[in-house]
Amino acid sequence: MKSRWSDKEARGLEGLDILVHTSRLIGMDTRLVIWGGGNSSVKVKGIDHAGRPIRILYVKGSGSDMKTITHKQFTPLRLDDLLPLIKREAMTDDEMVAYQSKCVLEPGAPKPSIETLLHAFLPPTHIYHTHADAICALTDTPNNTEIIKEVYGKDVAVIPYFRPGFLLSKRTGEAFENNPRLRAIILDKHGLITWGESAKAAYLETIRMIAEAERYIARHKRRSRMPSVRSSSSKETRYAVASAVAPTLRGEISRGKRMVLLYDDDPEFLRFVNHSKAKSLSQIGPFTPDHLMHTKPWPLFLEVNSSDRPNPDKIAATFPKSLAGYRERYVRYFNRHKTPGVTMLDPNPRVILIPGIGVFTTGKDRRACRIARDIYLHTVGVIQDSAAMSSYVSLSPRELCDFEYWPMENFKLTLLPPEKELSRRIALVTGAAGGIGKAIAERLAAEGAMVVLTDIDLEKTRAVAEAINQKAGEANAAAVKMDVTSESSVKRAYEEAVRAYGGLDILVSNAGIAKSSPVDRLSLSDWDRSIAVNATGHFLVCREAIRIFKEQGLGGNIVVIATKNVLAPGKDFGAYSASKAAQAQLSRILAIEGAEDHIRVNMVNPDGVFQESGLWSKEIREERAKAHGIPIEKLEDFYAQRNLLKTKIYPADVAEAVLFFASDRSSKTTGAILPVDGGVREAFPR
Ligand code: ZN
Repeated sequence: MKSRWSDKEARGLEGLDILVHTSRLIGMDTRLVIWGGGNSSVKVKGIDHAGRPIRILYVKGSGSDMKTITHKQFTPLRLDDLLPLIKREAMTDDEMVAYQSKCVLEPGAPKPSIETLLHAFLPPTHIYHTHADAICALTDTPNNTEIIKEVYGKDVAVIPYFRPGFLLSKRTGEAFENNPRLRAIILDKHGLITWGESAKAAYLETIRMIAEAERYIARHKRRSRMPSVRSSSSKETRYAVASAVAPTLRGEISRGKRMVLLYDDDPEFLRFVNHSKAKSLSQIGPFTPDHLMHTKPWPLFLEVNSSDRPNPDKIAATFPKSLAGYRERYVRYFNRHKTPGVTMLDPNPRVILIPGIGVFTTGKDRRACRIARDIYLHTVGVIQDSAAMSSYVSLSPRELCDFEYWPMENFKLTLLPPEKELSRRIALVTGAAGGIGKAIAERLAAEGAMVVLTDIDLEKTRAVAEAINQKAGEANAAAVKMDVTSESSVKRAYEEAVRAYGGLDILVSNAGIAKSSPVDRLSLSDWDRSIAVNATGHFLVCREAIRIFKEQGLGGNIVVIATKNVLAPGKDFGAYSASKAAQAQLSRILAIEGAEDHIRVNMVNPDGVFQESGLWSKEIREERAKAHGIPIEKLEDFYAQRNLLKTKIYPADVAEAVLFFASDRSSKTTGAILPVDGGVREAFPR
């Protein structure tokens, strides 16, 4: 643990400014706080709205994250109104929250942290509270009092576990009152509180406390090395197995609501899952209850015969029974420890451990999966550190359930944005580097889908995916290289997609090429190329998607970008029209074959979409203009003039039709064609 403090960066900052600065420094290190954990405060002199001098406590608002925190995410409170509360014997959460809200100085400020009183009751100016891994590794042992004394001596107080709220704050304040020489307070199974008269002093004390714990742990770790029962498979095997089992796992876990999965084989994870005691250690509980919302009380540990090479079929076959066992345990835990009147949350695991292979995390979107992944990566570290010093313990099931169903914790869920139409759906779009494919990817992502953009041009595709992620502020779009004409390339791309999101709900088969030439002058290679991309490419991407859909058992949705030419072919367009007709006919077959598995297949027939189009190369424009006997610069107008509405067709128009078929708005429709061509009489579907 190293200090990130820089006098230069902190120069001139005070009050709320230095609090924001230092909170971000703390938030930058995930060993201190992770994903919304921890909080911080400063006490300053100020004036209220009527000009009266007052003391203000700025404390982190509920639901914000320290690494990205801003001024507005701190709540200013009237400190002198909070202080007398320490004399009270008890306060319910509701009483405390109601009281705190009356002390807030700015209307519209965020709801103050549930640990606000803890900050108020400690007299020092700057207070930092972290859920540091190393501190929790000390507290999560049966003999933690002795260990903590051995590390820090007498000047650190340990407060027994209380759920955050009035009593924890009161005990903390009293501990300070009883011994003003204390250098820090440790909260059992929870974290660390440090302070100082300057932000720098308080920050450096946090770092020193943690560094001392880390040194102590390192000494013990050298002495106790944990045995591995198995070695990891090669990266290639791990990836192959993870890709093969992911759709089954996702399907099973999505029987209620659809979930997204994320695969990870970080060396830390592999070390842990291959450990002889991994199963029992993983079932003990979280290292701080703050993580429950993201990881559930325990992960699902999938038992795989240690002498076997990992076999995807066996893993997939074992999973439903293990999952049922997990859910039963969760239901038992809930029923035994629930407070009356609460409804059970989703009983599915958030973390799935597979020996030899790694870890899958689950969630409603990629962000949730990443949070669970990051937290569990720290959890395996803390578990092993505690086990090396003594043994790892967590809270009792009753305490865990009490925290997991605590209304104050579940309030944070209400701060999340509402789900969108395609939330929890995973879509793969071919030919997504530009034009129609790009517009489709953007449209589906805007409706909440996670989108895998594929194309032969990886650089361009990455730029499109990156732009989508920038807009959404999340890694919901991924770029994957795919050559639709290559069986192995298609397979590899799907494997990558499945490791990143767990499966697939929507395929948009969009990649296509056009070649204009009268048949007598059409070369065999141009003909072959058209068939390879437009027909065989379509076959390959659909075949792989259908395999995944069937493994998941959640139905599926294929949207095909065909063309007006399928119904109304034009001259000099033999290779294009014939290959697209093959694509369309195969799509109809897929609609027939897929129906019993609830796989819908529908077609969109655009006409003359020029904007950003890869299909309408300069060459093809010249060739089509020639075929229609018009100058090239008249081509776009020519296409607009030949439809009934006399209108130009844009990629966004096609994307809108795709959204209709890709969503449940068209849940009763399969084998259909929707023209997006401004109305072309000869191309009316019939
Ligand atoms: Zn805390």
